Amino acid sequence: MALAFDEFGRPFIILREQDQKTRLRGIDAQKANIAAGKAVARILRSSLGPKGMDKMLQGPDGDITITNDGATILEQMDVDNQIAKLMVELSRSQDYEIGDGTTGVVVMAGALLEQAERQLDRGIHPIRIAEGYEMASRVAVEHLERISQKFEFDINNFEPLVQTCMTTLSSKIVNRCKRSLAEIAVKAVLAVADLERRDVNLDLIKVEGKVGGKLEDTELIYGILIDKDMSHPQMPKQIEDAHIAILTCPFEPPKPKTKHKVDIDTVEKFQTLRKQEQQYFDEMVQKCKDVGATLVICQWGFDDEANHLLMHRNLPAVRWVGGVELELIAIATGGRIVPRFQELTPEKLGKAGVVREKSFGTTKERMLYIEHCANSKAVTIFIRGGNKMMIEETKRSIHDALCVARNLIRNKSIVYGGGAAEIACSLAVDAAADKYPGVEQYAIRAFAEALDSVPMALAENSGLQPIETLSAVKSQQIKENIPFYGIDCNDVGTNDMREQDVFETLIGKQQQILLATQVVKMILKIDDVISNSEY
Ligand code: ADP
Ligand code: MG
Repeated sequence: MALAFDEFGRPFIILREQDQKTRLRGIDAQKANIAAGKAVARILRSSLGPKGMDKMLQGPDGDITITNDGATILEQMDVDNQIAKLMVELSRSQDYEIGDGTTGVVVMAGALLEQAERQLDRGIHPIRIAEGYEMASRVAVEHLERISQKFEFDINNFEPLVQTCMTTLSSKIVNRCKRSLAEIAVKAVLAVADLERRDVNLDLIKVEGKVGGKLEDTELIYGILIDKDMSHPQMPKQIEDAHIAILTCPFEPPKPKTKHKVDIDTVEKFQTLRKQEQQYFDEMVQKCKDVGATLVICQWGFDDEANHLLMHRNLPAVRWVGGVELELIAIATGGRIVPRFQELTPEKLGKAGVVREKSFGTTKERMLYIEHCANSKAVTIFIRGGNKMMIEETKRSIHDALCVARNLIRNKSIVYGGGAAEIACSLAVDAAADKYPGVEQYAIRAFAEALDSVPMALAENSGLQPIETLSAVKSQQIKENIPFYGIDCNDVGTNDMREQDVFETLIGKQQQILLATQVVKMILKIDDVISNSEY
């Protein structure tokens, strides 16, 4: 220990590092890491599947999130163990790449860790386990490819896409409206998709929400939505084929920037001033009319005089529109933002098919819909719901559905859900294990067992007997040699996932297996943990 002083003369103490570090080595390190990873997975396990539970998380400011989405749960949790953070990363990367399957991937990784622990207890070296897992994951991914099916759909027949999005939504709070939300998500994706390049720019889909109304009122708007209304209540509420002037200059006479003083000591002087002001307004409105604008969107406000005049001259206007929204309108309608009235020309006007104002409920809340814009395919999904938490969760669920639809446009292959794909892979991996003469064989078998944990969790969460249900489904798959049998979570009466229309994307499932294996291998390879001890 040493005492030193910094440049301001404040004393501080230097501690010798070694005293303050704890160190775990070898098998103890692996055991501790596995325990941490498993703990995270256990939290998510009960959230998996259509009957999975939701979690309520309270943020540092007391704000509450209720969610079923794995990535969101982990993101909001304050995890400080480094290995647990790896699991958070794992879920996040699944979210980033695929968008759905964020709970499943953590459950899978947790099961792999659990199995690895057993193998360690048997005395198998962690590297052997890691290698076995690697081989097994390759077998599983190939097998998925083999059992996958191609989905045929086009712009007019997008029912298959809707079905797949419905599987994603069925595990969310919003599953009451899964049909309509899935349709909205698919239509939104198809509206912005580039089917030739098989690409979807999800940035073009804006998801907005407003408290109030019912979930069923959620709608898809082919255009953009701004939280503003017409400046005068008597202006028209709907403008067809709008030519929009987008202005950042105020609707008022210019103010000199230097200090100035106006002496008005006679009535005549006042009247001249007033007249001039009025003329100024008049010219501004005339200028807008001259270039052909039928709607003015203004960044600044204008006073009652100008407002009245605009109404009088039949030029609808919107005021106090924020900079970001103004840019959005400009991009979507192909207009230019005009900073001075003198610069207004017909080419700079934005164009939109319909601009309409809609009011909500009994409140004075109104919103402006700008639809069928000239320049952009951008669409908006407008979510309604009873409270803020519901809207936030709907946004997340819609995000998952949008990602699934996008993934299907990228790659048309699907596998069957409800654990069917996992069971089929488990069987394939188990069969492959016999071909490996080395110690890896045990690890490969362990991997097969870990794959079973997903259907097992689904069954458990649905209130079924996990082991009985799994073995029944498994034997059915072996007997009939078809990979469509899964867990009947909703008690429909059949295990056939084709009949239940429970589909998942092939790339999503493959990614889950690859990512989970990767993280588990990484955790297994750590044999020395040096950390700051608590003091
Ligand atoms: P994730 O965040 O991993 O997507 P979910 O809570 O959405 O987790 O659950 C997804 C799992 O639930 C998948 O394994 C999927 O196959 C399964 N699943 C979804 N809908 C059904 C259903 N109707 N019947 C059976 N399983 C289903
Ligand atoms: Mg999901």
